[in-house]
Amino acid sequence: MTDDAVTPMMAQYLEIKAGYADAILFYRMGDFYEMFFDDAVAAAEALDIALTKRGFHLGEPIPMCGVPVHAGDGYLLTLIRKGFRVAIAEQMEDPAEAKKRGSKSVVRRDVVRLVTPGTLTEDTLLEARRHNFLCAFAEVRDEGALAWTDISTGELRVMPCPRARLSPELARLAPREVLVSEAHEQSLHGLIEDLGAAVTVLARGSFDSTGSEKRLCALWQVGTLEAFGAFERAELAAMGALVDYLDLTQRGKLPLLRHPQREALGGAMQIDAATRRNLEITAALSGGRAGSLLDTIDRTVTAGGGRLLERRLSSPSRDLAMIEARHDAVTRLLEDARLRDDLREALRRVPDMDRAVSRLALDRGGPRDLAAVRNGLQQAALIASRIAGSAEGLLAQAASGLTGNDQIISLLKQSIAEDPPLLARDGGFIAEGFDADLDETRRLRDEGRGVIAAMQADYASQSGVQSLKIKHNNVLGYFIETTATHAEKMLAPPLNEIFIHRQTTANQVRFTTIELSALETRILNAGNHALEIEKRHFADLRAAVLAEAGRIGVAAAGLAELDVAAGFADLATSEDWVRPRVDASHAFNIEGGRHPVVERALQRQGVPFIANDCALTGESVPAIWLLTGPNMAGKSTFLRQNALIALLAQAGSYVPARRAHIGLVSQLFSRVGASDDLARGRSTFMVEMVETAAILNQADARALVILDEIGRGTATYDGLSIAWATLEHLHDVNRCRALFATHYHEMTALAGKLPGVENATVAVKEWEGEVIFLHEVRKGAADRSYGVQVARLAGLPDQVIERAKVVLEALEAGERAGGTRQKALIDDLPLFRAAAPAPVKAAPKQSPVETALRAVKPDELTPMAALQLVYELKQALAE
Ligand code: ATP
Repeated sequence: MTDDAVTPMMAQYLEIKAGYADAILFYRMGDFYEMFFDDAVAAAEALDIALTKRGFHLGEPIPMCGVPVHAGDGYLLTLIRKGFRVAIAEQMEDPAEAKKRGSKSVVRRDVVRLVTPGTLTEDTLLEARRHNFLCAFAEVRDEGALAWTDISTGELRVMPCPRARLSPELARLAPREVLVSEAHEQSLHGLIEDLGAAVTVLARGSFDSTGSEKRLCALWQVGTLEAFGAFERAELAAMGALVDYLDLTQRGKLPLLRHPQREALGGAMQIDAATRRNLEITAALSGGRAGSLLDTIDRTVTAGGGRLLERRLSSPSRDLAMIEARHDAVTRLLEDARLRDDLREALRRVPDMDRAVSRLALDRGGPRDLAAVRNGLQQAALIASRIAGSAEGLLAQAASGLTGNDQIISLLKQSIAEDPPLLARDGGFIAEGFDADLDETRRLRDEGRGVIAAMQADYASQSGVQSLKIKHNNVLGYFIETTATHAEKMLAPPLNEIFIHRQTTANQVRFTTIELSALETRILNAGNHALEIEKRHFADLRAAVLAEAGRIGVAAAGLAELDVAAGFADLATSEDWVRPRVDASHAFNIEGGRHPVVERALQRQGVPFIANDCALTGESVPAIWLLTGPNMAGKSTFLRQNALIALLAQAGSYVPARRAHIGLVSQLFSRVGASDDLARGRSTFMVEMVETAAILNQADARALVILDEIGRGTATYDGLSIAWATLEHLHDVNRCRALFATHYHEMTALAGKLPGVENATVAVKEWEGEVIFLHEVRKGAADRSYGVQVARLAGLPDQVIERAKVVLEALEAGERAGGTRQKALIDDLPLFRAAAPAPVKAAPKQSPVETALRAVKPDELTPMAALQLVYELKQALAE
């Protein structure tokens, strides 16, 4: 590129780029995707690759960077994860074609796809066990609606959604990208970004409900959408915007979108974003999946099953019949271990059919996707025959969708090689025996290769040059190669009659012969012909699979259902979980409940988890447990385990308890006092109060509320007052079931005043000034928090601990005498003690049992003496 003059290539680049101002343009040049100007600067930094320069534009050097096409996916993913969108411009013709138009002409290029976080389909870019949802929120007059799709599986759903419900619903779906109209951008941007999704703003036209209806009818080739349900205008607008956007990003190649399923608002247990974070349902507080409930309980063996489990845990049901049916399925598989094991074994070999079909629909699929459908459907049929006769209810229903695909299975079995290559482009995937014409062409091609070897031996003996070789490269095709010394003979008569000189390099001379070029043409023709035939078959097979997409989807859904049920059954047996009773009562009665994630963590350290009961038995009055107890005793664990048990039960799983009776929970709320949210610019206390307000304003009589140290983020008396009033409000107004943990021991007095409130505490033992945690929840109130002792366990310096004890004693004495806390400190506290040297810590006194044990020499004890010793120790303990 020269100064000032815009080269034809740069002109083409700028023209394409103008259409994708807000995306990074991957501009294909041979084996690289190149980026220029600001795109290059941004991408070089994001990808940590070298930024170079190429020529000039308007007198300035052009910044440039590039990534190799074969490694393009990895770079693409990094850019998408960092919040960029990427437009991919491919070469739309062979460079040779362009040359025919003149030496200056530029290869035709065009954007084939706009890659955004919500529109990924490649396995390399997706997590197999997570949905990748793209959402659209629409509002028509005051009516809101949310539509969402996962284009990697084709699922499409829609529900009415007033603005107030948007945040919890988005928290449930955890979409990667949300589409909003330019009219709502300002008011919704913050809310969506807070939930970790990218916001994409579309023009109002994309959300036009009348246009939407037409677009949707055309998509599913129906005259009216009524067959799929009665949709509100806002729902049509939201679905229409999704389709419009997919059309734009996929450049006209629409993904396979299944018929829309309408979800009712309130069909699932309502869980807002803060509660989800807090309970670490599908992601741990640290961000990843590891350490979450989902990670701990996931026993599914297929990707589809993994995704369904995530959906179940994200939206536990509120439909009693549905919950019951799911529990029945788990019970059936729990009782029949052989069936369960056979099923899980067979499921392990089920590939991800949903994603394979979706790639085929978008024309991004390859032979392996066809093989995935074949193997998946074959496996589905096997599973159906294994289950036949031994299943009923949900299992039988799931199994019924697994059969009836014999025709497509048989077609794919005959046509696709057992283990085909990734790309259709290179051929070699159609099985032998499927097409006689193809087999014959391949034979010609392969024989040609054999003939070349014979030819080489022949020429070597004819010329007397034993080292002569026949080689192949892309420029010359097949040629005969020899060294310069030997070549002289071949350049001279009579051999030059046969060997025609083609090229001389530094050390080698290359020849061809009439015979060799003729053979080459035959091989090439046969090879190309074989490829053509295979491509044609691929197109036909792809069409055949897509024609069956609906049935394949049903089979995949059935397999996922079986996988989840079998996974739950496996979990229940190995972890000793129990079937919960879920009914329309207001009970919450858990015997021997455990926290699945904490229990697993303790197991690794060889520490047992102490099971605890929780009985919120208020049929006519609200039922609230006020939990006090020392720091580190296990209050938070207890609170959360009860919330998780309710969630698991309604998600269709057995639960970690000895017995569980749960009256249907409509809403689950969980809050922890004083959790920072600096990223969102809210102070600790503000977050706490905003979240508490949401509960008090929303919780109904079927809600289950978990409040952990509310009021902690402000001054003691303010905090206590807020906690006090919050508990009263839950009791008097919300009238729901609640667990309330606090360090404000003053609040235990409320149990005497409010009929629905009971005190509970986590027991500890004190020994020689140290606390021993028993982790046992009992009725009653704690007398103190043992904060100072716990601080010692944490390794606070001895001086600080000693000083804290003095301050605490002075405070408590002051309060007993009726003074204020501050007065107690100022008047009674000896000054300057903090700087005084720490008192020498007295060696802990040994108990009589310890002293006796230390004196024992086990090897010298007779059995009689040992028994006597046990009696003595027991006696010493009692004293
Ligand atoms: P704080 O008041 O300081 O927040 P807490 O009372 O809420 O403390 P947790 O955080 O629930 O205490 O538990 C502290 C630790 O005790 C846990 O990390 C866990 O290792 C252990 N623990 C909690 N519950 C149990 C249990 N039931 N059985 C065994 N160990 C437990």
